[in-house]
Amino acid sequence: MRVTPLLAGEAKLPPTYLNSPSGRLGRLRGLGLTTPRSRWIWAPVPAFLVEHPGAGAILVDTGFAPSVAENPRESLGWRAGTLFTLRVGPEQAIREQLLARGIDPDAVGLVVMTHLHFDHASGVPEFPAATFVVDRHEWEAASSGGFRHGYRHSHFDHPFDWREIDYGASDVESHETFGRTVDLLGDGSVRLLSTPGHTHGHQSVLLRLAGRSLLLVGDAAYTRRAIAESWIPALYADRHVYLRSLGEIQRYIQAEPNAVVICGHDAESWPTLESVYA
Ligand SMILES: [Zn+2]
Repeated sequence: MRVTPLLAGEAKLPPTYLNSPSGRLGRLRGLGLTTPRSRWIWAPVPAFLVEHPGAGAILVDTGFAPSVAENPRESLGWRAGTLFTLRVGPEQAIREQLLARGIDPDAVGLVVMTHLHFDHASGVPEFPAATFVVDRHEWEAASSGGFRHGYRHSHFDHPFDWREIDYGASDVESHETFGRTVDLLGDGSVRLLSTPGHTHGHQSVLLRLAGRSLLLVGDAAYTRRAIAESWIPALYADRHVYLRSLGEIQRYIQAEPNAVVICGHDAESWPTLESVYA
């Protein structure tokens, strides 16, 4: 199995968005309202290509729609398109990146959605033939939520093949330090981990490679420092549940120090990643 990190674009974020100060004005500061833009950082927005010997091409998240390179408001809406400063090139659309690697985008059979926030789901309409895998609670939260919760219905509200994972089902099993996991393909190679808190139905992905494991944390922690120092981000669906999921990730890294761990928006770590993990 091979895993390729794909840089779908970058978003300019205030440092306090990743590690929110506590106190009365914490949230306002966390949203960057008190930090000069010159101190904001370009955070990567990733997606991942997983090439499985039996299941073929699988995506984890979809990055941005191709239109975002020209006109962010078309896919993201005027509020998100105006509020967020993005750096996205037309060649960064995930379909283009697959084609550049000799992979037919229409042959992608499975897309695992860590969650449905706009920077992960904007590219969903680009893969109408795929089966999308999402936590049932995420689907419910996104369907009833809107801009304030980070969702845009036009990204995911399509009659595609959506498969909802029920982490309360009886066949859900614990794995290592994670309480609720699902073996997606039945061969132990791609394991979905319930890591809610950032959103109500966030999931991470644990991939078993030859001789090592690769943990795609998603936004359960934006950065490796967030894991190491238990940072609380500015925005989350449930603080207590976020910290519970973070604890499972922290204990996993302690138990498996050789595992490769890739976080959701980690500007420091992104340049250090290998181009392909096998
Ligand atoms: Zn998110």
